[in-house]
Amino acid sequence: MKYKIINFGCKVNTYESTYFEEVLIKDGYTEAKEVKDADVVVINTCSVTNVADQKCRKFIRRLKRENDKAVIIACGCSVQNNGEEYQTYGIDILLGNHHKSKIPELYKEFLKTREPIVLIDSNRKQEFDDMLLNKFEKHTRAFIKIQDGCDNFCSYCVIPLLRGSLRSKKFETVIKEAKTLADNGHKEIVLVGIHTGSYNSDGKDLVDLINEISKIEKVKRIRLSSIEITELNDKFMETLKNNKKLVSHLHIPLQAGSNEILKLMNRKYDKKYFKDKLELIRSIRPDINITTDVIVGFPQETDELFEESMEFCKELEFGKIHVFPYSIRNNTKASLMEGHVKEEIKKKRALQLIRISDILQCTYEKKFLGKEMTIITEKNHQNEIVGFTDNYIKVFVRDANFLNSNEEVIVKLDSWDEKYIYSDFIKKGED
Ligand code: SF4
Repeated sequence: MKYKIINFGCKVNTYESTYFEEVLIKDGYTEAKEVKDADVVVINTCSVTNVADQKCRKFIRRLKRENDKAVIIACGCSVQNNGEEYQTYGIDILLGNHHKSKIPELYKEFLKTREPIVLIDSNRKQEFDDMLLNKFEKHTRAFIKIQDGCDNFCSYCVIPLLRGSLRSKKFETVIKEAKTLADNGHKEIVLVGIHTGSYNSDGKDLVDLINEISKIEKVKRIRLSSIEITELNDKFMETLKNNKKLVSHLHIPLQAGSNEILKLMNRKYDKKYFKDKLELIRSIRPDINITTDVIVGFPQETDELFEESMEFCKELEFGKIHVFPYSIRNNTKASLMEGHVKEEIKKKRALQLIRISDILQCTYEKKFLGKEMTIITEKNHQNEIVGFTDNYIKVFVRDANFLNSNEEVIVKLDSWDEKYIYSDFIKKGED
């Protein structure tokens, strides 16, 4: 029997989709080359923007035409957000964001009864939906989903409605999973969640988790998918100072560089708070890479406020900015606000800020030319050796096909272009 997993959206979805794949492989399934050859197709959907929603719906409608014999299982944010519409698509098993770990047993039930199953639970109060991975197939870095949900209700965001309230994976379960992944060869663990900084398991927080995982000898690096500036407390700064396995890269969403817009977004900080925290982080790790997310074209964002936002991003010297044109989401406060910005202006602003991000990224990465740095090797699509430094610089290693994936090696960075920083192999790390 053949399967195909189609994943849309964030790292949390990627973790969940990898779990579905692991269970199907354990049940003897093999991956189909193409969707049209699969006996079962699992689609983990996303609804962070209108575009994401449209993509998921379009994909599923096309799939029904291309492969009407496959069992189709659709789940995730777009289904949670548009349940009634998805129920008209003739999908075999339909789940929202909750109970995803039940997909394998629901699939077995469906094969017996052939009765369509719909499980879209809109209750925000949910238990953490435990999944355990043994290996993060097809990836060098292994993700562990440690947390789900959010109660922040930023005015533009639909996630709290779709993923429910904050909840965390049991501390011991995460540690056990990290040990298994490390024993199966993963040297880098990425802790993912909707709100990683709010991790709490019977009083043990994210820092406790990082410090416990770093005791696992085979784990060389611990990375966070993202963290809110308000969650970088003194305890975290202590760990940033003392725990060398915590990588020198933090992804901290800014969202806007003007206090007026931050207020309208219901973000929990202002520019001064954000800037002061970044200076504190850089006083501890001067070369750290801080990347961020910024929304452009939020309602009431004038040319002047956008200008201010761009200037603030330059001033904070981010290593990269992920730029998102504001996307109106139903049932959010921002969707009811006055002063929505025209699409063409959003597009123009997004291009301007992406150009600034490219310059900032180039400026940051060029600081490391001439330096010897450690990477964990991966193979790119051309089967060449690439890898990321701990501060998340993507490096290409010349003439290194004698290396395998997932090796810790020292390289010397010496040149760059828009795709990579280039390097020569120096020696293997202390693996
Ligand atoms: S913190 Fe804000 S942007 Fe992030 S998931 Fe929660 S509501 Fe959405």
